[in-house]
Amino acid sequence: MSCLARLGYNIPMARRLRTFDQHQMLVVNEAVALAEELTSNHFKYSSSQWRRSRYDITTLKDLSGPEITDAAFAQILRYVGQPTAGDPARARIDYYKVCLQDHGILRALERDRALEFFPLMVYVVTHELTHIVRFSRFIQGFDAYPEHRAQEEARVHAITREILLGARVPGVVPIANSYLDLVDTVAVFPPGPSHEAG
Ligand SMILES: [Zn+2]
Repeated sequence: MSCLARLGYNIPMARRLRTFDQHQMLVVNEAVALAEELTSNHFKYSSSQWRRSRYDITTLKDLSGPEITDAAFAQILRYVGQPTAGDPARARIDYYKVCLQDHGILRALERDRALEFFPLMVYVVTHELTHIVRFSRFIQGFDAYPEHRAQEEARVHAITREILLGARVPGVVPIANSYLDLVDTVAVFPPGPSHEAG
């Protein structure tokens, strides 16, 4: 169970939350494709290296229980697959699930009309992918993340900003420069025991 759930941030499933509509999903898919391309170029990741960093980027319709939060635009959960009994040579598999919180993102866009959907999504996804690269390369341990959170978020933001400003993504400058406004809402990680993958 994640810390978020223990803190009471988990949303009761009975509550109806707004999800991205069909058009917004197209924009999200475009933003994910661009974020993946920019991040892999920055870290010089080949497509086979990306495949080895197992992750999915999901939206609210595919989330449940502690994957849903009201406190962030996105959160990453790590699921750990253990080696099968018959195949001890098979290594432990880490799988990261980036959980985009449609309802929080839509609320922020309504609150701040200057915020644009596409560059915001590119920012959020690039930020989360940068976390995953750093976890995968053991630059920052997932379990140690909570105690280094402030420093790690500052580093990840600086890298994300460099990637996006370097790529001149339209509309991204105000988002990349307003980190102080976004810091508490862009990403929250559930510390504590990892979830077991089925
Ligand atoms: Zn973050």
